[in-house]
Amino acid sequence: MLILAIESSCDETAAAVVRDGCETLSSVVSSQIAIHAEYGGVVPEIASRKHLEMITPVVNQALHEAGLAMGDIQGVAVTRGPGLAGALLVGLSAAKAIAFAQAVPFVGVHHIEGHIFATCLEQPVEFPFLALVVSGGHTHLYLVEGFGRYTTIGRTIDDAAGEAFDKSAKIMGLEYPGGARIDALARTGDCRAVRLPRPLINDGSLNFSFSGLKTAMLQWINKHPVAMPSQDASDLCASFQEAVCDVLAFKTEAALRQCGARRLVVAGGVACNSGLRARMTRMAADLGVELHIPKPALCGDNAAMLGVAGNYYLCNGHASSLSLDVTATWEMDRIKDMFL
Ligand code: ATP
Ligand code: MG
Ligand code: FE
Repeated sequence: MLILAIESSCDETAAAVVRDGCETLSSVVSSQIAIHAEYGGVVPEIASRKHLEMITPVVNQALHEAGLAMGDIQGVAVTRGPGLAGALLVGLSAAKAIAFAQAVPFVGVHHIEGHIFATCLEQPVEFPFLALVVSGGHTHLYLVEGFGRYTTIGRTIDDAAGEAFDKSAKIMGLEYPGGARIDALARTGDCRAVRLPRPLINDGSLNFSFSGLKTAMLQWINKHPVAMPSQDASDLCASFQEAVCDVLAFKTEAALRQCGARRLVVAGGVACNSGLRARMTRMAADLGVELHIPKPALCGDNAAMLGVAGNYYLCNGHASSLSLDVTATWEMDRIKDMFL
């Protein structure tokens, strides 16, 4: 099935054409990062207006790059939530309009379901598997038993990993979103230079907490102002990244042991992080676990990732009704109820 996929949950307007849930014919991502950087974070009202401006050109470009016309599309997949309601509404409305005009089915997909299955655009993954989702809004461990069948077994109790990266970068005076900048500086830093906490590492649960780490960064900076760029800045970035990776690796290993999973998928924007990728690769090799981390372009927000679950739902009679609404919050564990 030829699917047009659309994503507009936050600050990326994206469209893609995906064949049979595994082959990307085109993937266009228009980022608003430069616009929001000026404000130090995403401004919802600006995001919605920018999506509205970009949605038609981005969809047209995706079709053009795939060498297709609108009439060739056989189904539409779109992010229904979670995310910014006004931003989601732009993508969902466009998806409905296209599906209605072309008389093809459409389906609203969970944004995190998109992130998790992005890796299938490179190689298939067998069920069941454990998914570690590390992004701007999520740090979650899910047991994935099939499309739509997700069980949360661990999650952050405060900030997400991406939020911790971005807030710590802001404290250091780095531009939003600072995750990638910390990663770049950390490459030449000494990760043992600054002692930072590993929150919740010994609490026996599979949960995460990152707000204390951010506070520890703030306290360190207040006592030891760092010039930018400098060896001290690189050392601090490396130490911070190591602390985040230690906690993510420790809890993921515990989760793998607890549920006996033989396969691990790491997904979401923070999965771009070079330190985390190296750490997960080492851990998976040590444990004999099959690891799937997609290339960085598939870790951040994009539309192609929605074409995987979208294809499954559309091919299995789970199309959405045109009365479907966006949802700013949406628990992954609730998705299975929709199939009952
Ligand atoms: P969610 O998917 O939870 O709704 P989101 O869509 O805003 O949130 P993503 O686009 O998946 O999040 O990821 C963005 C996050 O990834 C940002 O916090 C960004 O700083 C972080 N990130 C991107 N590259 C890196 C990197 N190399 N190292 C660390 N963090 C990174
Ligand atoms: Mg984004
Ligand atoms: Fe995302």
